[in-house]
Amino acid sequence: KANAYPVKKHGINPKYIPEAAVMVTRTLTDAGFEAYVVGGAVRDLMQGLQPKDFDVATNAKPEQVVKLFRRARIIGRRFRIVHVQHKRDLIEVTTFRSADLDDQEVDEHGRVLRDNVYGTLTDDAVRRDLSINALYYDVKHQTVLDFHGGVQDLADSMLRIIGDPVTRFREDPVRMLRVLRFMAKLDFSVDEYTEDAMESCKPLLGNIPQARLFDETLKFFTTGHAAASLDALQDYDFTRYLMPVLHEVMQTEKGAAWVHRVLAQTDARVNEDKSISPGFLFAALMWPKIEERWQFFQSKGSPSIVALDQAIVEVVNQNNEQITITKRFVADMREIWSLQPRLERRLPRQAIGLVEHPRFRAAYDFLLLRAQLGHLGEEGLPLAQWWEDFHFATPEMRDKTVAILR
Ligand code: ATP
Ligand code: MG
Repeated sequence: KANAYPVKKHGINPKYIPEAAVMVTRTLTDAGFEAYVVGGAVRDLMQGLQPKDFDVATNAKPEQVVKLFRRARIIGRRFRIVHVQHKRDLIEVTTFRSADLDDQEVDEHGRVLRDNVYGTLTDDAVRRDLSINALYYDVKHQTVLDFHGGVQDLADSMLRIIGDPVTRFREDPVRMLRVLRFMAKLDFSVDEYTEDAMESCKPLLGNIPQARLFDETLKFFTTGHAAASLDALQDYDFTRYLMPVLHEVMQTEKGAAWVHRVLAQTDARVNEDKSISPGFLFAALMWPKIEERWQFFQSKGSPSIVALDQAIVEVVNQNNEQITITKRFVADMREIWSLQPRLERRLPRQAIGLVEHPRFRAAYDFLLLRAQLGHLGEEGLPLAQWWEDFHFATPEMRDKTVAILR
């Protein structure tokens, strides 16, 4: 039933399989179990991309896996897996899942709640989301096992859900988001049945636990294809389910231009291996809406600083109805936003305190972005430059500068 493809056909160079993955699969097979590198790593290697992580699938139960390695532990409840640490690398080892859905605990929408009943390799392949994610690489024999036409779909640049897409999206609506993410990451098309099911199953996104929704949202915007991801989200009209505030921001030309610029910059940073701060990113994506509400509350008579606070509370609450951003990130966002009027005003009494503020760098970067987009008028770029100079000045220079301002 499975096609076994040799190197000639799949083209994976064994030198790109990290030592940790070789060690883990060999230890398992030496102990008499089956073990394969599976999922995104096989897909990415065949596409000539650098895999983010290496996952291993085996018929050994988590308890049996743990016993074979010195640094291994079982994690997860809904879906138990084993983390094996080898030097600096972490390998996720999952036990083949059963294909019989009667074995799984589901909610009233058919969403799988607990998934710890085990099965065979063929069972496991049926349970994977996309044909291109259900390829199993046998490290020892250097063959790729393909149960669902994934090799052909890779060649055709095609995303195809395994089995009946509606059923599969009901089991786990996050799969729809994964389809969009792989569209963006791989620049692939979506098979017709999968596409139709995405349309009809869209409302199920409201049924995803908030923490998982947030994790997926982060993956859209922090893995180097944020701009393409947003295009996919917009094309399929999914943005409103993920981030209602961003959806609104995208309705205006000015808002959309701002978001495109922010995401292009985010992708550029990721591709230069620079870090992305989720707080900064979400602060930026929601900023046009904050700005609009800030002006609104000022027009109702609130003083500037108070109005900004009102805007922040309102927009954060609106967003939380759909997706809860981790508290720590929300705290970052609030600080970045709240510091904007203080940076704009450049009061001599506050200047030194501001550059020493732990969030100064983020708030400054944010000010610079606004200036570069012309949102601060003629004064924007010189103002940003002033803060840059002031930030790097010696204490004596700072005192002198402040004295001039007074
Ligand atoms: P990447 O790591 O590049 O984001 P990936 O395909 O490796 O992509 P992971 O989240 O690491 O994604 O998952 C590893 C594998 O587990 C997938 O390739 C797929 O086979 C399977 N998988 C992950 N999430 C699901 C899901 N929601 N439903 C079914 N199978 C899934
Ligand atoms: Mg992966």
